[in-house]
Amino acid sequence: MACDRYRRLLPALSDRELGPLQRFLVARHATRCAACAGELEELEAMRTALRTRLTYHRAPPGLAARIGSALPREAPPAKVAPRRWSLSSVWGFAGSGLVGALAGVALTVAMLGGYPSGADGELQGVINSQIRARMADHLTDMLTSDQHTVKPWLSARLPVSPPVPELKDVGFPLVGGRVDYINGRPTAVVVYRHAKHVVNLYAWAATGLTDTGFRTAQRQGFNIVSWQQGGIAYHAVSDCEPAALMRFAQEIKRAAAES
Ligand SMILES: [Zn+2]
Repeated sequence: MACDRYRRLLPALSDRELGPLQRFLVARHATRCAACAGELEELEAMRTALRTRLTYHRAPPGLAARIGSALPREAPPAKVAPRRWSLSSVWGFAGSGLVGALAGVALTVAMLGGYPSGADGELQGVINSQIRARMADHLTDMLTSDQHTVKPWLSARLPVSPPVPELKDVGFPLVGGRVDYINGRPTAVVVYRHAKHVVNLYAWAATGLTDTGFRTAQRQGFNIVSWQQGGIAYHAVSDCEPAALMRFAQEIKRAAAES
Protein backbone atom coordinates (compact mmCIF):
# COMPACT_ATOMS: atom_id res chain seq x y z
CA MET A 1 0.00 0.00 0.00
CA ALA A 2 2.78 2.42 0.98
CA CYS A 3 4.64 1.35 -2.14
CA ASP A 4 1.74 2.46 -4.36
CA ARG A 5 1.78 5.86 -2.75
CA TYR A 6 5.51 6.31 -3.27
CA ARG A 7 5.43 4.90 -6.76
CA ARG A 8 3.03 7.59 -7.91
CA LEU A 9 5.58 10.19 -6.79
CA LEU A 10 8.52 8.67 -8.69
CA PRO A 11 7.99 10.76 -11.87
CA ALA A 12 7.88 13.92 -9.73
CA LEU A 13 11.08 12.84 -7.98
CA SER A 14 12.77 12.26 -11.31
CA ASP A 15 11.57 15.67 -12.53
CA ARG A 16 12.98 17.27 -9.35
CA GLU A 17 9.54 18.55 -8.47
CA LEU A 18 9.18 17.30 -4.90
CA GLY A 19 9.70 19.31 -1.75
CA PRO A 20 12.46 18.30 0.67
CA LEU A 21 10.37 16.06 2.92
CA GLN A 22 8.64 14.13 0.13
CA ARG A 23 11.93 13.90 -1.72
CA PHE A 24 13.53 12.35 1.33
CA LEU A 25 10.69 9.88 1.91
CA VAL A 26 10.39 8.76 -1.71
CA ALA A 27 14.16 8.47 -2.16
CA ARG A 28 14.42 6.48 1.07
CA HIS A 29 11.67 4.13 -0.12
CA ALA A 30 13.55 3.60 -3.40
CA THR A 31 16.57 2.34 -1.46
CA ARG A 32 14.43 -0.36 0.13
CA CYS A 33 12.14 -1.31 -2.75
CA ALA A 34 13.67 -2.95 -5.79
CA ALA A 35 10.55 -2.32 -7.92
CA CYS A 36 10.60 1.41 -7.25
CA ALA A 37 14.39 1.60 -7.68
CA GLY A 38 13.98 -0.07 -11.09
CA GLU A 39 11.21 2.28 -12.09
CA LEU A 40 13.24 5.30 -11.02
CA GLU A 41 16.10 4.04 -13.12
CA GLU A 42 13.82 3.72 -16.14
CA LEU A 43 12.47 7.22 -15.62
CA GLU A 44 16.02 8.54 -15.57
CA ALA A 45 16.83 6.63 -18.76
CA MET A 46 13.78 8.17 -20.42
CA ARG A 47 14.86 11.64 -19.29
CA THR A 48 18.24 11.03 -20.85
CA ALA A 49 16.69 9.78 -24.08
CA LEU A 50 14.30 12.71 -24.29
CA ARG A 51 17.00 15.24 -23.51
CA THR A 52 19.20 13.78 -26.24
CA ARG A 53 16.32 14.05 -28.64
CA LEU A 54 15.40 17.55 -27.57
CA THR A 55 18.75 18.96 -28.58
CA TYR A 56 17.63 18.40 -32.16
CA HIS A 57 14.57 20.57 -31.67
CA ARG A 58 16.04 23.63 -30.02
CA ALA A 59 13.67 26.56 -30.17
CA PRO A 60 14.85 29.43 -32.39
CA PRO A 61 16.68 32.16 -30.49
CA GLY A 62 14.35 34.78 -29.10
CA LEU A 63 11.32 32.48 -29.01
CA ALA A 64 11.43 32.08 -25.24
CA ALA A 65 11.62 35.83 -24.83
CA ARG A 66 8.67 36.36 -27.21
CA ILE A 67 6.59 33.79 -25.34
CA GLY A 68 7.69 35.33 -22.04
CA SER A 69 6.57 38.81 -23.05
CA ALA A 70 3.24 37.45 -24.29
CA LEU A 71 2.50 35.92 -20.88
CA PRO A 72 0.71 37.85 -18.16
CA ARG A 73 3.00 39.79 -15.84
CA GLU A 74 2.28 37.76 -12.71
CA ALA A 75 3.51 34.49 -14.25
CA PRO A 76 7.25 34.37 -13.63
CA PRO A 77 9.20 32.78 -16.52
CA ALA A 78 10.15 29.20 -15.82
CA LYS A 79 13.78 28.39 -15.29
CA VAL A 80 15.05 26.75 -18.46
CA ALA A 81 18.64 26.06 -17.46
CA PRO A 82 19.27 22.35 -18.13
CA ARG A 83 19.88 20.47 -14.93
CA ARG A 84 22.37 17.69 -14.97
CA TRP A 85 21.57 14.55 -13.07
CA SER A 86 23.29 14.84 -9.77
CA LEU A 87 22.74 13.00 -6.57
CA SER A 88 23.02 16.14 -4.53
CA SER A 89 20.13 17.82 -6.34
CA VAL A 90 17.75 15.06 -5.32
CA TRP A 91 19.19 13.82 -2.08
CA GLY A 92 21.53 16.65 -1.27
CA PHE A 93 20.38 17.36 2.23
CA ALA A 94 20.21 13.72 3.29
CA GLY A 95 22.48 12.42 5.99
CA SER A 96 25.60 10.51 5.05
CA GLY A 97 24.04 7.21 6.18
CA LEU A 98 21.30 7.57 3.61
CA VAL A 99 23.78 8.59 0.93
CA GLY A 100 25.70 5.40 1.65
CA ALA A 101 22.52 3.37 1.41
CA LEU A 102 21.79 5.00 -1.91
CA ALA A 103 25.18 4.32 -3.41
CA GLY A 104 23.97 1.13 -5.09
CA VAL A 105 21.07 2.88 -6.77
CA ALA A 106 23.23 5.85 -7.67
CA LEU A 107 25.84 3.73 -9.35
CA THR A 108 23.30 2.18 -11.68
CA VAL A 109 21.68 5.51 -12.46
CA ALA A 110 24.99 7.20 -13.17
CA MET A 111 25.87 4.53 -15.72
CA LEU A 112 22.77 5.18 -17.78
CA GLY A 113 23.42 6.57 -21.22
CA GLY A 114 27.09 5.65 -21.00
CA TYR A 115 27.81 2.35 -22.69
CA PRO A 116 30.79 0.31 -21.50
CA SER A 117 33.90 0.49 -23.62
CA GLY A 118 33.73 -2.02 -26.42
CA ALA A 119 30.02 -1.48 -26.94
CA ASP A 120 30.71 0.60 -30.01
CA GLY A 121 31.33 -2.39 -32.26
CA GLU A 122 28.22 -4.12 -30.92
CA LEU A 123 25.99 -1.12 -31.63
CA GLN A 124 27.43 -0.79 -35.11
CA GLY A 125 26.84 -4.49 -35.71
CA VAL A 126 23.21 -4.08 -34.69
CA ILE A 127 22.73 -1.03 -36.92
CA ASN A 128 24.38 -2.81 -39.85
CA SER A 129 22.03 -5.76 -39.40
CA GLN A 130 19.08 -3.39 -39.36
CA ILE A 131 20.21 -1.70 -42.58
CA ARG A 132 21.09 -5.02 -44.25
CA ALA A 133 17.64 -6.43 -43.49
CA ARG A 134 16.01 -3.35 -44.94
CA MET A 135 18.11 -3.30 -48.10
CA ALA A 136 17.46 -6.96 -48.77
CA ASP A 137 13.80 -6.46 -47.85
CA HIS A 138 14.37 -9.35 -45.49
CA LEU A 139 13.01 -8.35 -42.10
CA THR A 140 11.88 -11.81 -41.07
CA ASP A 141 12.67 -15.47 -41.73
CA MET A 142 9.52 -16.36 -39.89
CA LEU A 143 6.59 -14.13 -40.65
CA THR A 144 3.85 -14.60 -38.11
CA SER A 145 2.06 -12.59 -35.49
CA ASP A 146 1.80 -15.69 -33.30
CA GLN A 147 4.18 -15.48 -30.34
CA HIS A 148 3.80 -19.23 -29.74
CA THR A 149 5.34 -19.87 -33.16
CA VAL A 150 8.18 -17.35 -33.01
CA LYS A 151 9.63 -18.34 -29.63
CA PRO A 152 10.13 -22.08 -30.31
CA TRP A 153 11.32 -21.29 -33.83
CA LEU A 154 14.07 -19.05 -32.44
CA SER A 155 15.04 -21.32 -29.57
CA ALA A 156 15.40 -24.27 -31.96
CA ARG A 157 18.03 -22.30 -33.88
CA LEU A 158 19.85 -20.29 -31.22
CA PRO A 159 21.48 -20.65 -27.80
CA VAL A 160 19.37 -17.80 -26.41
CA SER A 161 15.64 -17.54 -26.25
CA PRO A 162 14.35 -13.99 -25.70
CA PRO A 163 10.78 -13.42 -24.51
CA VAL A 164 8.29 -12.89 -27.33
CA PRO A 165 5.38 -11.16 -25.59
CA GLU A 166 2.23 -10.13 -27.43
CA LEU A 167 2.34 -6.32 -27.33
CA LYS A 168 -0.39 -5.44 -29.79
CA ASP A 169 -2.52 -3.92 -27.05
CA VAL A 170 0.22 -1.47 -26.17
CA GLY A 171 0.90 -0.49 -29.77
CA PHE A 172 3.58 -2.94 -30.84
CA PRO A 173 2.12 -5.78 -32.95
CA LEU A 174 4.44 -8.75 -33.51
CA VAL A 175 5.64 -9.23 -37.10
CA GLY A 176 7.95 -12.23 -36.82
CA GLY A 177 11.52 -13.28 -36.18
CA ARG A 178 14.82 -13.91 -37.90
CA VAL A 179 18.27 -15.17 -37.02
CA ASP A 180 21.40 -13.14 -37.66
CA TYR A 181 25.10 -13.34 -36.96
CA ILE A 182 26.47 -10.16 -35.39
CA ASN A 183 30.13 -9.71 -34.42
CA GLY A 184 30.59 -13.46 -34.35
CA ARG A 185 27.51 -14.12 -32.23
CA PRO A 186 24.38 -16.01 -33.26
CA THR A 187 21.62 -13.47 -32.65
CA ALA A 188 17.88 -13.72 -32.29
CA VAL A 189 15.92 -10.86 -33.85
CA VAL A 190 12.28 -10.43 -32.88
CA VAL A 191 10.50 -8.00 -35.16
CA TYR A 192 7.65 -5.75 -34.03
CA ARG A 193 5.91 -2.82 -35.63
CA HIS A 194 5.00 0.53 -34.09
CA ALA A 195 2.71 2.57 -36.37
CA LYS A 196 4.79 2.73 -39.58
CA HIS A 197 8.08 1.98 -37.85
CA VAL A 198 9.83 -1.37 -37.56
CA VAL A 199 11.11 -2.22 -34.09
CA ASN A 200 13.81 -4.89 -33.92
CA LEU A 201 14.72 -6.62 -30.69
CA TYR A 202 18.22 -8.14 -30.83
CA ALA A 203 19.18 -10.75 -28.25
CA TRP A 204 22.37 -12.72 -27.80
CA ALA A 205 24.09 -14.59 -24.99
CA ALA A 206 25.78 -12.03 -22.77
CA THR A 207 29.38 -12.44 -21.67
CA GLY A 208 28.53 -11.69 -18.02
CA LEU A 209 25.57 -12.45 -15.83
CA THR A 210 25.15 -8.99 -14.32
CA ASP A 211 21.85 -7.30 -15.06
CA THR A 212 22.09 -3.66 -16.10
CA GLY A 213 19.72 -0.72 -16.43
CA PHE A 214 18.75 0.82 -19.76
CA ARG A 215 21.33 2.59 -21.86
CA THR A 216 20.31 4.69 -24.82
CA ALA A 217 22.08 5.74 -27.99
CA GLN A 218 21.32 7.28 -31.35
CA ARG A 219 23.07 6.27 -34.49
CA GLN A 220 22.47 6.78 -38.19
CA GLY A 221 18.89 7.86 -37.62
CA PHE A 222 18.06 4.97 -35.29
CA ASN A 223 17.38 5.02 -31.58
CA ILE A 224 18.78 2.19 -29.49
CA VAL A 225 17.88 1.03 -25.98
CA SER A 226 20.21 -1.61 -24.56
CA TRP A 227 20.27 -3.61 -21.37
CA GLN A 228 21.40 -6.94 -19.99
CA GLN A 229 19.09 -9.27 -18.12
CA GLY A 230 19.19 -12.92 -17.13
CA GLY A 231 22.38 -13.62 -19.10
CA ILE A 232 21.02 -12.10 -22.32
CA ALA A 233 22.18 -8.84 -23.93
CA TYR A 234 19.26 -6.95 -25.47
CA HIS A 235 19.25 -4.10 -27.98
CA ALA A 236 15.94 -2.60 -29.10
CA VAL A 237 16.39 -0.60 -32.31
CA SER A 238 13.96 1.57 -34.25
CA ASP A 239 13.55 4.88 -36.00
CA CYS A 240 10.42 5.54 -33.92
CA GLU A 241 10.57 8.23 -31.24
CA PRO A 242 12.81 7.51 -28.22
CA ALA A 243 9.99 7.58 -25.66
CA ALA A 244 8.03 4.92 -27.59
CA LEU A 245 11.13 2.75 -27.90
CA MET A 246 11.72 3.09 -24.15
CA ARG A 247 8.13 1.93 -23.51
CA PHE A 248 8.78 -1.05 -25.76
CA ALA A 249 12.00 -1.89 -23.88
CA GLN A 250 10.15 -1.71 -20.56
CA GLU A 251 7.52 -4.16 -21.84
CA ILE A 252 10.20 -6.61 -22.97
CA LYS A 253 12.09 -6.25 -19.70
CA ARG A 254 8.91 -6.95 -17.75
CA ALA A 255 8.12 -10.00 -19.90
CA ALA A 256 11.68 -11.30 -19.47
CA ALA A 257 11.43 -10.90 -15.71
CA GLU A 258 8.20 -12.93 -15.69
CA SER A 259 9.37 -15.68 -17.99
ZN1 LIG B 1 8.02 0.58 -3.94
